[in-house]
Amino acid sequence: MSILTYRSVGAAATVGLIALVSSSIVAQQPATVQQPATVIRAARMVDPKSGATTTNAVIVVDRGRISAVGSNVAVPPNARVIDLGNVTLLPGLIDAHTHLLQNYRGGIGGDDPNMLLTVATMSPASRALLGVKMGREDLEAGITTVRDVGNSGWNGDVALRDAINAGWVQGPRIVASTRALSAAGGQFGELQPAAQHLVEQEYAVVSTPDDARRATKQAFYDGADVIKVIVNTGPRVVSLDEMRAIVDEAHRVGKRVAAHAIGDTATFIAAEAGVSSIEHAYTVPDTVLKLMARKGIFLVATDYPAEFYVDGLGGPVTPEQHAQRLRGAQAFAKSNAERLMRATRMGVRVAFGSDEYYDAPGYTRGQASLLTLQAYQEAGMPPLEVLRAATINSADLLGLADRIGSLETGKLADIIAVDGDPLHDVKDLRKTRFVMKGGVVIRNDGAMK
Ligand SMILES: [Zn+2]
Repeated sequence: MSILTYRSVGAAATVGLIALVSSSIVAQQPATVQQPATVIRAARMVDPKSGATTTNAVIVVDRGRISAVGSNVAVPPNARVIDLGNVTLLPGLIDAHTHLLQNYRGGIGGDDPNMLLTVATMSPASRALLGVKMGREDLEAGITTVRDVGNSGWNGDVALRDAINAGWVQGPRIVASTRALSAAGGQFGELQPAAQHLVEQEYAVVSTPDDARRATKQAFYDGADVIKVIVNTGPRVVSLDEMRAIVDEAHRVGKRVAAHAIGDTATFIAAEAGVSSIEHAYTVPDTVLKLMARKGIFLVATDYPAEFYVDGLGGPVTPEQHAQRLRGAQAFAKSNAERLMRATRMGVRVAFGSDEYYDAPGYTRGQASLLTLQAYQEAGMPPLEVLRAATINSADLLGLADRIGSLETGKLADIIAVDGDPLHDVKDLRKTRFVMKGGVVIRNDGAMK
């Protein structure tokens, strides 16, 4: 999560993440049963790598993987054919910044009271079950893989990941972080001493480099695929020495670090320490962007269209309050757009991260998450680059580029179809009609004329 209820306030928020990724996440291969191949046909298919559109697209899926793909590819005998008609086939989308075990309510009044209520009243088991619903909504919107970056209670995310991998429930492939590492207090607001035990349900607090090493090792023991660090929350900052210790421990075991960081100091500490991605970076200086470009550190830009910051939350609002919120949200969206385009001009790669964690009336979790892609487009990013952020770039960031992120022979069959042409307008990515994950059909709305 990003701290500041930035949606209702429209002020610069403050959160960062660090994520690492492992290879254990994609271990599940549902299709060990010998079954005939499945063939998917559609009018068009877009390859995010080349940007090319193929017409009369055919994808052959065999045992959970793509075995052939192209225009007018031969259909194997006995294959089950799914003809989707006038739609565009794409690789499954990848959201590199989710909080599936969190569903805050705007009416409660922002992040601080929501966090307190969630952590104090919901068990990790209860939150994992909430995550089943959120994950299902992501999957049905075409998000087939997520990197879930904390705020999951103590290991609720690991339980959800493992349940999905075991086939107990359907959900996206999850790269899990377990509890985020942070400075004192995590991202909690003011807490009385007696209430401070709540912090450790949600965060692993570190105060020295030794602490940082211990917490990183503990996260891997707990099942983390990636390490998330809250580099700054208000005036509390994880130091450069501590960040270096975290990155060192993670890299020792082949894992990555995602850093929530906002502002000159925190983004510099994250980039200098060598994290794999900086989350949010609502304010970030050119010197740090340069460092990010040189080191190949991704920007996970957790942006939303201004209207959504205001209207997506619901809650009682007077016309005057609405107008004031809208002005704040528009200024925030404009500032985010400026830093996004500044980053891409300087050669920083962008990975899609929604940071969606509020209930959004009228939207499923997945539909609300895809609004971030609209924000990238409105900021000036070409649709193909937006599509790359949500596919090949995120796959690279997660360390899964050999398995997901594109439609190629040998890749996992994570395939979606949308009505329209997302290379013309990425809002069409919300017109989901078909979703397949690992060769299993999750959603099929039928052929489109
Ligand atoms: Zn977040």
